[in-house]
Amino acid sequence: MSVAFDEPMRRKLVQAVADAVIAHAEELTALDQAVGDGDHGLNMKRGFAAVLADLDTIAAQPLPKALHALGMTLVMKVGGASGPLFGTLFMQLGKSLPEQPARADAVTAFAAAVDAVKARGKSDVGSKTMLDVLAPVLAALRQGTDLPAAADAAAQATIPMKALRGRASFLGERSVGHLDPGARSVALIVRAVCGVLETGA
Ligand code: ADP
Ligand code: MG
Repeated sequence: MSVAFDEPMRRKLVQAVADAVIAHAEELTALDQAVGDGDHGLNMKRGFAAVLADLDTIAAQPLPKALHALGMTLVMKVGGASGPLFGTLFMQLGKSLPEQPARADAVTAFAAAVDAVKARGKSDVGSKTMLDVLAPVLAALRQGTDLPAAADAAAQATIPMKALRGRASFLGERSVGHLDPGARSVALIVRAVCGVLETGA
Protein backbone atom coordinates (compact mmCIF):
# COMPACT_ATOMS: atom_id res chain seq x y z
CA MET A 1 0.00 0.00 0.00
CA SER A 2 1.64 3.21 -1.11
CA VAL A 3 -1.20 5.33 0.19
CA ALA A 4 -0.49 8.46 2.20
CA PHE A 5 -2.77 8.31 5.23
CA ASP A 6 -2.90 12.06 5.51
CA GLU A 7 -5.81 14.11 6.80
CA PRO A 8 -7.76 14.20 3.50
CA MET A 9 -7.34 10.43 3.09
CA ARG A 10 -8.39 9.73 6.68
CA ARG A 11 -11.43 11.92 6.16
CA LYS A 12 -12.37 10.09 2.93
CA LEU A 13 -12.02 6.70 4.59
CA VAL A 14 -14.15 7.56 7.61
CA GLN A 15 -16.78 9.31 5.46
CA ALA A 16 -17.00 6.39 3.00
CA VAL A 17 -17.41 3.79 5.76
CA ALA A 18 -20.03 5.86 7.58
CA ASP A 19 -21.93 6.62 4.35
CA ALA A 20 -21.99 2.94 3.36
CA VAL A 21 -23.31 1.78 6.72
CA ILE A 22 -25.89 4.57 6.97
CA ALA A 23 -27.09 3.99 3.37
CA HIS A 24 -27.71 0.32 4.18
CA ALA A 25 -29.31 0.81 7.60
CA GLU A 26 -32.72 -0.41 6.45
CA GLU A 27 -31.24 -3.52 4.88
CA LEU A 28 -29.27 -4.28 8.07
CA THR A 29 -32.39 -3.81 10.14
CA ALA A 30 -34.36 -6.15 7.88
CA LEU A 31 -31.63 -8.80 8.24
CA ASP A 32 -31.74 -8.42 12.03
CA GLN A 33 -35.54 -8.66 12.00
CA ALA A 34 -35.17 -12.17 10.58
CA VAL A 35 -32.70 -13.51 13.17
CA GLY A 36 -32.61 -10.97 16.01
CA ASP A 37 -34.48 -8.00 17.37
CA GLY A 38 -34.32 -5.75 14.32
CA ASP A 39 -32.08 -3.06 15.74
CA HIS A 40 -28.76 -3.69 13.96
CA GLY A 41 -29.30 -1.11 11.20
CA LEU A 42 -30.48 1.50 13.66
CA ASN A 43 -27.62 0.72 16.05
CA MET A 44 -24.98 1.04 13.35
CA LYS A 45 -26.59 4.14 11.85
CA ARG A 46 -26.61 5.85 15.27
CA GLY A 47 -22.96 4.94 15.80
CA PHE A 48 -21.73 6.14 12.43
CA ALA A 49 -23.85 9.30 12.58
CA ALA A 50 -21.97 10.09 15.82
CA VAL A 51 -18.70 9.34 14.01
CA LEU A 52 -19.66 11.80 11.22
CA ALA A 53 -20.60 14.41 13.81
CA ASP A 54 -17.02 14.05 15.11
CA LEU A 55 -15.41 13.74 11.68
CA ASP A 56 -13.20 16.83 11.98
CA THR A 57 -11.73 15.73 15.31
CA ILE A 58 -11.31 12.12 14.22
CA ALA A 59 -9.70 12.86 10.83
CA ALA A 60 -7.34 15.46 12.32
CA GLN A 61 -5.55 12.75 14.32
CA PRO A 62 -2.87 10.39 12.99
CA LEU A 63 -4.30 7.09 11.70
CA PRO A 64 -3.85 5.02 14.90
CA LYS A 65 -5.48 7.66 17.10
CA ALA A 66 -8.22 8.32 14.54
CA LEU A 67 -9.12 4.63 14.43
CA HIS A 68 -9.09 4.40 18.19
CA ALA A 69 -11.37 7.43 18.51
CA LEU A 70 -13.74 6.00 15.91
CA GLY A 71 -13.87 2.71 17.82
CA MET A 72 -14.56 4.48 21.11
CA THR A 73 -17.46 6.34 19.50
CA LEU A 74 -18.92 3.06 18.23
CA VAL A 75 -18.63 1.46 21.69
CA MET A 76 -20.47 4.40 23.21
CA LYS A 77 -23.14 4.91 20.55
CA VAL A 78 -23.93 1.67 18.71
CA GLY A 79 -25.06 -0.33 21.71
CA GLY A 80 -26.33 -3.91 21.43
CA ALA A 81 -23.91 -6.78 21.18
CA SER A 82 -22.32 -5.33 18.09
CA GLY A 83 -21.28 -1.92 19.51
CA PRO A 84 -18.46 -3.25 21.70
CA LEU A 85 -17.45 -5.69 18.95
CA PHE A 86 -17.18 -3.17 16.10
CA GLY A 87 -15.66 -0.74 18.59
CA THR A 88 -13.04 -3.31 19.57
CA LEU A 89 -12.26 -3.99 15.90
CA PHE A 90 -11.43 -0.33 15.21
CA MET A 91 -9.76 0.33 18.57
CA GLN A 92 -7.43 -2.64 18.12
CA LEU A 93 -6.62 -1.55 14.55
CA GLY A 94 -5.71 1.80 16.08
CA LYS A 95 -3.45 0.14 18.63
CA SER A 96 -1.73 -2.10 16.07
CA LEU A 97 -1.30 0.07 12.97
CA PRO A 98 1.56 2.53 12.49
CA GLU A 99 0.79 6.02 11.15
CA GLN A 100 1.75 5.01 7.61
CA PRO A 101 0.99 1.30 7.33
CA ALA A 102 2.48 -0.82 4.58
CA ARG A 103 0.76 -3.99 3.40
CA ALA A 104 2.50 -6.20 5.95
CA ASP A 105 1.45 -3.85 8.77
CA ALA A 106 -2.16 -4.13 7.62
CA VAL A 107 -2.01 -7.94 7.80
CA THR A 108 -0.52 -7.95 11.31
CA ALA A 109 -2.93 -5.31 12.60
CA PHE A 110 -6.00 -6.92 11.07
CA ALA A 111 -5.02 -10.27 12.59
CA ALA A 112 -4.75 -8.61 16.01
CA ALA A 113 -8.12 -6.92 15.50
CA VAL A 114 -9.84 -10.19 14.55
CA ASP A 115 -8.36 -11.85 17.65
CA ALA A 116 -9.59 -8.95 19.80
CA VAL A 117 -13.14 -9.34 18.44
CA LYS A 118 -12.99 -13.09 19.15
CA ALA A 119 -11.91 -12.40 22.73
CA ARG A 120 -14.48 -9.64 23.27
CA GLY A 121 -17.33 -11.79 21.90
CA LYS A 122 -16.05 -15.06 23.41
CA SER A 123 -16.66 -16.31 19.91
CA ASP A 124 -14.92 -17.78 16.91
CA VAL A 125 -15.40 -18.52 13.23
CA GLY A 126 -18.35 -20.79 12.43
CA SER A 127 -20.91 -19.29 14.82
CA LYS A 128 -22.67 -17.16 12.14
CA THR A 129 -21.38 -13.76 13.23
CA MET A 130 -19.29 -10.87 11.92
CA LEU A 131 -16.25 -13.10 12.56
CA ASP A 132 -17.32 -15.26 9.63
CA VAL A 133 -16.51 -12.32 7.36
CA LEU A 134 -13.57 -10.89 9.32
CA ALA A 135 -11.57 -14.14 9.21
CA PRO A 136 -11.95 -14.72 5.44
CA VAL A 137 -11.06 -11.06 4.83
CA LEU A 138 -7.89 -11.57 6.87
CA ALA A 139 -7.09 -14.65 4.77
CA ALA A 140 -7.66 -12.67 1.55
CA LEU A 141 -5.47 -9.86 2.88
CA ARG A 142 -2.69 -12.38 3.57
CA GLN A 143 -3.06 -13.92 0.11
CA GLY A 144 -3.44 -10.61 -1.73
CA THR A 145 -6.79 -11.61 -3.26
CA ASP A 146 -9.86 -9.42 -3.80
CA LEU A 147 -11.07 -8.24 -0.39
CA PRO A 148 -14.61 -7.01 -1.21
CA ALA A 149 -15.28 -10.20 -3.20
CA ALA A 150 -14.02 -12.33 -0.30
CA ALA A 151 -16.13 -10.33 2.16
CA ASP A 152 -19.32 -10.60 0.08
CA ALA A 153 -18.84 -14.34 -0.47
CA ALA A 154 -18.19 -14.87 3.23
CA ALA A 155 -21.29 -12.87 4.20
CA GLN A 156 -23.40 -14.99 1.82
CA ALA A 157 -21.83 -18.11 3.32
CA THR A 158 -23.40 -17.25 6.70
CA ILE A 159 -26.86 -17.98 5.20
CA PRO A 160 -26.77 -21.78 5.66
CA MET A 161 -25.03 -21.51 9.05
CA LYS A 162 -26.71 -22.06 12.41
CA ALA A 163 -26.12 -19.22 14.88
CA LEU A 164 -24.20 -20.25 17.99
CA ARG A 165 -23.51 -16.75 19.37
CA GLY A 166 -25.54 -13.60 19.90
CA ARG A 167 -29.28 -13.14 19.86
CA ALA A 168 -29.71 -15.22 16.68
CA SER A 169 -28.53 -18.29 18.60
CA PHE A 170 -31.83 -18.19 20.52
CA LEU A 171 -33.50 -19.26 17.26
CA GLY A 172 -31.43 -22.45 16.98
CA GLU A 173 -32.20 -24.21 13.68
CA ARG A 174 -34.52 -21.36 12.67
CA SER A 175 -31.48 -19.12 12.28
CA VAL A 176 -30.51 -21.21 9.24
CA GLY A 177 -31.38 -19.64 5.88
CA HIS A 178 -30.70 -16.00 6.83
CA LEU A 179 -27.71 -13.75 6.24
CA ASP A 180 -26.10 -12.58 9.49
CA PRO A 181 -26.55 -8.80 9.89
CA GLY A 182 -23.13 -8.20 11.49
CA ALA A 183 -21.49 -10.17 8.70
CA ARG A 184 -23.20 -7.92 6.15
CA SER A 185 -21.99 -4.82 8.02
CA VAL A 186 -18.40 -6.02 7.88
CA ALA A 187 -18.71 -6.64 4.13
CA LEU A 188 -20.06 -3.11 3.62
CA ILE A 189 -17.20 -1.61 5.63
CA VAL A 190 -14.54 -3.63 3.77
CA ARG A 191 -15.95 -2.59 0.37
CA ALA A 192 -16.04 1.07 1.42
CA VAL A 193 -12.43 1.05 2.68
CA CYS A 194 -11.14 -0.74 -0.43
CA GLY A 195 -13.06 1.61 -2.71
CA VAL A 196 -11.24 4.60 -1.24
CA LEU A 197 -7.81 2.94 -1.08
CA GLU A 198 -8.01 1.70 -4.68
CA THR A 199 -9.18 4.88 -6.31
CA GLY A 200 -7.81 7.36 -3.81
CA ALA A 201 -11.15 9.09 -4.38
P1 ADP B 1 -27.96 -7.29 19.38
O1 ADP B 1 -27.74 -8.73 19.01
O2 ADP B 1 -27.60 -6.99 20.81
O3 ADP B 1 -29.33 -6.82 19.01
P2 ADP B 1 -26.96 -6.07 16.98
O4 ADP B 1 -28.27 -6.43 16.37
O5 ADP B 1 -26.52 -4.65 16.79
O6 ADP B 1 -26.91 -6.44 18.51
O7 ADP B 1 -25.81 -6.97 16.34
C1 ADP B 1 -25.99 -8.32 16.02
C2 ADP B 1 -24.73 -8.82 15.33
O8 ADP B 1 -23.65 -8.85 16.26
C3 ADP B 1 -24.86 -10.25 14.84
O9 ADP B 1 -25.36 -10.28 13.52
C4 ADP B 1 -23.43 -10.79 14.91
O10 ADP B 1 -22.73 -10.62 13.68
C5 ADP B 1 -22.78 -9.92 15.96
N1 ADP B 1 -22.56 -10.67 17.19
C6 ADP B 1 -23.43 -10.87 18.22
N2 ADP B 1 -22.85 -11.57 19.21
C7 ADP B 1 -21.57 -11.84 18.79
C8 ADP B 1 -20.44 -12.52 19.37
N3 ADP B 1 -20.50 -13.09 20.58
N4 ADP B 1 -19.29 -12.58 18.64
C9 ADP B 1 -19.21 -12.00 17.44
N5 ADP B 1 -20.22 -11.34 16.85
C10 ADP B 1 -21.39 -11.26 17.51
MG1 MG C 1 -30.11 -6.79 17.14
